[in-house]
Amino acid sequence: MEKFRELGVSEEMLKGIADLGFETPSPVQEKAIPVILGEENDLVVLAQTGTGKTAAFGLPLLQKIEPEWNNVQVLILSPTRELCVQIGNDLRNYSKYRKDIRVTCVYGGTDIRRQIKDLQRGVHVVVATPGRLVDLLNRKAINIESVFAVVLDEADEMLNMGFQEDLDFILSNTPKEKNTYLFSATMPKEVERIARNYLVNQKEISVGKKNQGADTVSHQYYMVRAKDCYETLRRIVDCAPSMYAIIFTRTKNDAQDIAKHLQRDGIDCDALHGDLSQAQRDNVMNAFRAKRLKVLVATDVAARGLDVDNLTHVINYNLPEDVESYTHRSGRTGRAGKEGISIAIIHSKEKGKLRRIENMLKKQFEYKSVPGGEEICRAQLAFYGDKILASEEYEDMDLYAQEVYDKFAGLTKEEVLRHLVSYEFGRLLKKYKNTDDLNIEDDDRGGRSERGDRGGRDRDRRGRGGDTVYSTFTLNVGREDGLTPKDLMSLINKYSRRRGIGVGGIRIFDTDTKFEIDEDSASDFAVDFSKVLFNGIPLEIKAIPTRDRGRRRDDRGKGDFSGRRERRSSDRNDSRDRGGRRDDRNGNSGGKRRGRPGSDPKKPRNFNRSSSRS
Ligand code: ADP
Ligand code: MG
Repeated sequence: MEKFRELGVSEEMLKGIADLGFETPSPVQEKAIPVILGEENDLVVLAQTGTGKTAAFGLPLLQKIEPEWNNVQVLILSPTRELCVQIGNDLRNYSKYRKDIRVTCVYGGTDIRRQIKDLQRGVHVVVATPGRLVDLLNRKAINIESVFAVVLDEADEMLNMGFQEDLDFILSNTPKEKNTYLFSATMPKEVERIARNYLVNQKEISVGKKNQGADTVSHQYYMVRAKDCYETLRRIVDCAPSMYAIIFTRTKNDAQDIAKHLQRDGIDCDALHGDLSQAQRDNVMNAFRAKRLKVLVATDVAARGLDVDNLTHVINYNLPEDVESYTHRSGRTGRAGKEGISIAIIHSKEKGKLRRIENMLKKQFEYKSVPGGEEICRAQLAFYGDKILASEEYEDMDLYAQEVYDKFAGLTKEEVLRHLVSYEFGRLLKKYKNTDDLNIEDDDRGGRSERGDRGGRDRDRRGRGGDTVYSTFTLNVGREDGLTPKDLMSLINKYSRRRGIGVGGIRIFDTDTKFEIDEDSASDFAVDFSKVLFNGIPLEIKAIPTRDRGRRRDDRGKGDFSGRRERRSSDRNDSRDRGGRRDDRNGNSGGKRRGRPGSDPKKPRNFNRSSSRS
């Protein structure tokens, strides 16, 4: 706090920011606060998102307000409604111990009459979006001729959004003898023009290494075919169960489409873009802030400046056109010294763009290979396990404990866990069976070897599966006896002498069952079951000689058995699918099917990666 005091921040404000947990000023605050408090300089501040710009202008300006004058003294312009609201809240927090200062926000999309009433009550600070302010000025509902300070927050974004004329009009309604403070993450020509035309005697403050992301952000890229971008995204998201991320797209349509498909794929997410009604935007932002959404899919404009902490990832679904936008996006993660990951999903034609970004950032992107099904399932299971271990025991558990114990009395701990995991994860595990390798090698990078390994592993696994030879057995119990695939699996695991028996297809009929065991394990398999009872019925297992020995895995659609190993991880609904509905078996290999464009109704159309910005 001492540092803030030395900068000239008043005692009331110090109390306000102490409540927010501020201790020492950020670099931009250290530089800007004295300028704004003291001399009569205009100011250009170039600093990335998350550097504490709001307090940099908010603290000194609030302090300079003379509350006995009942007029608008400070005008803050910001590009979006969310930012207005956020700035308004921040300012109210800083001035919590200055009840005599009144701050109000005006922005489009909500009832203008209420805002007019607010203004009529007399306010000192107005935080506004340009469009709505112009509207209010035209209706003569606001007078900004007595402001002593104008802040243009996120100036580059305001100009990007086409607020140029509005800004000109607004500024022409302010008095000459005021100060103008321009805050921007980047300094494109348009911002320079504004600075040239409207700022006088300005100082320039630039914080952080320009165009360079935070050091706590690591940059990664995945290289895939354009048609695989969505599937890649989905896998990345699924592979990081504790992800809290913004996915950036170039257009509103992309944002909408991707959010829709992620939702359909069971991921808590929503889209944020300019076409939403205000109520919808509020809902989305509230849900994201409260972490009810794991992922927000947004356009640059919609996400600009939003103060959301603790993002674990930023994902560039499309690489932005300009390098500065990339810096801006990736700056949303890795805040407050925390580690963050900025991911780019690119196709091979975008390598050049990626290299340009690397040159500007002076940082290398790390090549990552798209996770396969196994990796994703492991990640999810580990997360699930941690969650279970960390859960607090329900205090009245004793009331129900006995019933639970009784229910599972016949099962070992391992069996209970298997049921639990199958129940929770059957869908996911199934979804990620037989996933295709989506990676394209980046020959210029170490990526080759990493990917080479994985590709090798996957191929290997497929190869083995393809060549496995199975023996078929029949069992004298079936659905009517209460046998489920899981029962069969546990019988096999429990009673066979050999460990790690490979089970192929399983078909449970009304009164009997057919299943496959890999040839290596099959030799004395039947013997092991000679004295075993299932629901009181002595089991009889017979090997049946098969004509189609050596049938390849790939041919399985034509054979007797629905997808082989699917059954191993099958969820509890399997008992209902039994009886071999043939069409079902193709559905089980969803992972494969996905690879074929156009065949999957869930697969999004190719998101247009080159359409113009929204
Ligand atoms: P910017 O406008 O530069 O993107 P913000 O003003 O929104 O950044 O600040 C980003 C976050 O950092 C906010 O949550 C804010 O409360 C916090 N913050 C700002 N200054 C400080 C400080 N001096 N100490 C601790 N936290 C701060
Ligand atoms: Mg800001």
